[in-house]
Amino acid sequence: MTKDFLTSLHNRQKLDLDLKTFINRIDASLLSLVFVDADKFKSINDIYGHSVGDEALKHLSYKLKLYCTSLNAEAYRYGGEEFILLCFKDKSELIPILNNLRIEIKRDKIKNTDYNINLSVSMGISFWRDVTSIKELLKVADDNLFKAKDQGRDRIIYN
Ligand code: GH3
Ligand code: MG
Ligand code: MG
Repeated sequence: MTKDFLTSLHNRQKLDLDLKTFINRIDASLLSLVFVDADKFKSINDIYGHSVGDEALKHLSYKLKLYCTSLNAEAYRYGGEEFILLCFKDKSELIPILNNLRIEIKRDKIKNTDYNINLSVSMGISFWRDVTSIKELLKVADDNLFKAKDQGRDRIIYN
């Protein structure tokens, strides 16, 4: 009930539950929310087909999951080609690790496809210590994601 079918990541229901728990943790001041959105994903589907698009989403999920250890994070599929990471990591360490993730996603070849797909992601981050509600935490990350898209994609924006 808490897993996403395609990617096996946590689903949105699990995100809602975890958010309520995590903000009450003793180390909640370290909590950040990272919105990760695949860039121009519609065109990947349009060019290569939906099943290749699915493989790209699975690959993306695999990368997010892989990075959860170093980020001290949990990964969720928020919907479609949008993902969320809830991280307990100091900002000074968080940003370089996310930047590595971004670069690797761009560089990786996607398994089970014969194409050279240009997959990249944009990220928007918010920090629990800067906001007063879960709603605001999501809003700030979403606003920053919008800025990342607006500024040309394939980048990370935070306050
Ligand atoms: P942007 O860089 O602005 O995010 O552009 P975008 O094309 O990624 O964004 P848009 O919201 O226009 O399109 C998202 C696309 O993601 C459209 C939809 O078909 C695709 N998508 C969503 N869920 C799935 C899925 O489970 N499988 C596949 N193959 N495609 C999906
Ligand atoms: Mg997108
Ligand atoms: Mg999107």
